[in-house]
Amino acid sequence: MSQSPAHRIELRIIPVTPLQQNCSLIWDTATKHAAFVDPGGDTATLMGALKHFGLTLKHIWLTHGHLDHAGAAAELRELTGVPVVGPHKDDQFWLDQIEESSRRYGLTGGRNVTPDRYLEDGDELDLEGTKFQVIHTPGHTPGHVVIANARAKIAFVGDVLFAGSIGRTDFPRGNHEQLIASITDKLWPLGDLTFVPGHGPTSSFARERQTNPFVADRITGYAGTAKVAADEGEQRTSKRYT
Ligand SMILES: [Zn+2]
Ligand SMILES: [Zn+2]
Repeated sequence: MSQSPAHRIELRIIPVTPLQQNCSLIWDTATKHAAFVDPGGDTATLMGALKHFGLTLKHIWLTHGHLDHAGAAAELRELTGVPVVGPHKDDQFWLDQIEESSRRYGLTGGRNVTPDRYLEDGDELDLEGTKFQVIHTPGHTPGHVVIANARAKIAFVGDVLFAGSIGRTDFPRGNHEQLIASITDKLWPLGDLTFVPGHGPTSSFARERQTNPFVADRITGYAGTAKVAADEGEQRTSKRYT
């Protein structure tokens, strides 16, 4: 990720839950103040990561209300006193059934959560002066948001978009056409950002516009230029948490 000299942001991806959800830990290297994006479970692992890197948690941000993304938010809030922010209020019905759906998946530890603040399209999140833009991207769930920083060229897209795939839309209030529109109308105009999906390897918007079987430009008819970032392969390996 590119950084301004004043604010250097580090990122580690920590897969959590048996669903291997990509929880992101981001922090300002000067102050060591940190944010979790989508802490879906494995609270002890997440607390251990904060300790390992010497970080103070300041933000808990959620992209959507599914158990593998939001399941540990309530417990982390209790342990750290940090407020839970996001997703959009239209996902509260998902946040209200984390415990029930966890049981259905045979998972333990996930807890229902009501955020301290819902997010809206156009909101801004602030990590030590590094601003993240909030984009409402319904389709996978009605209250899904993407959290992006166009300057640092990074986006946390939850289950909207994956390397080579897109999010499921067969859940209650899922909508395939809406998901495609969220991706082409709201994500592509952000430029060629590297993105962390909810599951699987990172990729870039440009790469997906060339090769994704659901949302490549040749399929959607999206008109614009797509160019794969040359250093993407290197970022892919350097951002994994070990
Ligand atoms: Zn999901
Ligand atoms: Zn997921």
